[in-house]
Amino acid sequence: MVNHQTHADIRARWEACAHTKTSEMTREYQGSGNAVNNIPKFQDGKQVCLNWTCKGECKDDCPRKTSHRPMGEALSRSVLAYMDECQVARA
Ligand SMILES: [Zn+2]
Repeated sequence: MVNHQTHADIRARWEACAHTKTSEMTREYQGSGNAVNNIPKFQDGKQVCLNWTCKGECKDDCPRKTSHRPMGEALSRSVLAYMDECQVARA
């Protein structure tokens, strides 16, 4: 599945970083608590799918498939802040 509504800033930062897997990004997490638990969430509590959001594509059988949907600007900013906590350089 391809995400046709990726956020330009998120995509630019992902493209500029050296990671090929989002797990490589979350491994660098230095925020408070657990990296996976702190992945940003939609208002209904579902976590963002980082593949969908950062890479712009994901698998049909993704466990976070229900999060393959538009995020809006506020949640996009939370993802950018999360990328900060994962030490992803600003593009
Ligand atoms: Zn996914």
